Amino acid sequence: MPLKYQAPRGTRDLLPEEIGRWQWAEARARGVLERYSYAEIRTPEFEEFDLFARTSGETSDVVQKEMYRFRDLKGRDLALRPEGTAGVCRAYLERNLAARGRVHKLWYLGPMFRYGRPQKGRFRQFFQVGAEIIGTPAAAADVEMVTLFVDLFRAWGFAGLTVALNSVGTPATREEYARRLREWLAPVRERLSADSQKRLEVNPLRVLDSKDEGDRALLEGRAGAGGALPRMLDVLDPESRAHWEQVLAGLAALDVRCEIDHGLVRGLDYYTRTAFEVHDRSLGAQSALGGGGRYDGLIEALGGPPTPGVGFSIGLDRVLLALEDRAVTPPAAAPRVFVAGMEETHAEVAALARALRAEFVVDYDFEARSLSTQLKAADRGGARVAVLLGAEEWGRGEVLLRDLATKAQRAVPRGEIAAQLRAMLGSAPEVSAR
Ligand code: AMP
Repeated sequence: MPLKYQAPRGTRDLLPEEIGRWQWAEARARGVLERYSYAEIRTPEFEEFDLFARTSGETSDVVQKEMYRFRDLKGRDLALRPEGTAGVCRAYLERNLAARGRVHKLWYLGPMFRYGRPQKGRFRQFFQVGAEIIGTPAAAADVEMVTLFVDLFRAWGFAGLTVALNSVGTPATREEYARRLREWLAPVRERLSADSQKRLEVNPLRVLDSKDEGDRALLEGRAGAGGALPRMLDVLDPESRAHWEQVLAGLAALDVRCEIDHGLVRGLDYYTRTAFEVHDRSLGAQSALGGGGRYDGLIEALGGPPTPGVGFSIGLDRVLLALEDRAVTPPAAAPRVFVAGMEETHAEVAALARALRAEFVVDYDFEARSLSTQLKAADRGGARVAVLLGAEEWGRGEVLLRDLATKAQRAVPRGEIAAQLRAMLGSAPEVSAR
């Protein structure tokens, strides 16, 4: 019989056996972000639809086709967040963070929602970790963003990823670039997808972002036959060029490997200067692991004072998929203890377990079943040591500690259980710090 309820298409359950990997990846990220001196921010998972329409662009695919837009019972026009920067900038303005300091270094982690066609590496609910520096136009901030981005991947065990980097200048730069791009694409115009033909009119830079396979092939063919893709770097204004040079020099000084990618663009007006991305080809079509860039016009576009910003976001689902492909295995969970009672001592089990839980990962049987069944459950649950409350030993003020691998056991005074467990399990395990 088919099940009546299934998880919505494009979403998935992360079951306990997968959660260890997620917690490990999240803890790794949190560690790096904290050592870089970023503060966590948590914003709502839904916001006014209009906020996202502003930040992602009315004509973008995200807004046109991928938004989980809904009305609440009062008729408010809301949407599940498709990305994190919009909410962070909204909060920055609404909570007047500018009054508390000029430069803010923030990070977030949480679910995002996009109504795309599900496939490997593309979900309708997915998780992003991201960071933002709000309040400074300094090239050093761009350098730190790219370096932090790279160090996160390094902390997850990726080696040899290369960051693709470009400068998208200013809106004026992009106007000139759009003109050159239109010219360059003119010979293949008729053969572009209907969407891209429209993009060519409204915002030609978007054509470079097209996911359509026909478009991609045309772009590649054009680059082969019709001369190289026009380069944004050729049309930069002098200030953006100086900024670009400083970013490159800063990254080189830190030994951060980058490759210039002239096809890396951002179509929206508020994007400025640095843009970067990292891909992992082992993931197939959905190969982008993360990306970011400078958005000096964004906060102003939200109605705030001109405020520069730079940030990135990384898709955690894809990070974990890529790690699976590379067989990177996070460390095992903390060792466990199982407290097993006998008929006469079952009443004592919960209290002893509770006391040991101040330090150890401890479990016991709710149903007071036979000792052999409890020991089987202990094994299945991955326990390393069982604390057996034998009636006789308990009467003498002792318990039996049983090593579940070797089956060796010995009597230990109740007051020494914790010290003995510590010796058997290694140092006191920290449950949260894997
Ligand atoms: P974007 O905001 O589109 O630049 O996305 C940033 C990162 O989030 C991407 O590089 C992906 O790793 C991840 N991502 C975006 N959309 C999805 C999705 N539908 N499913 C899973 N990961 C996604």
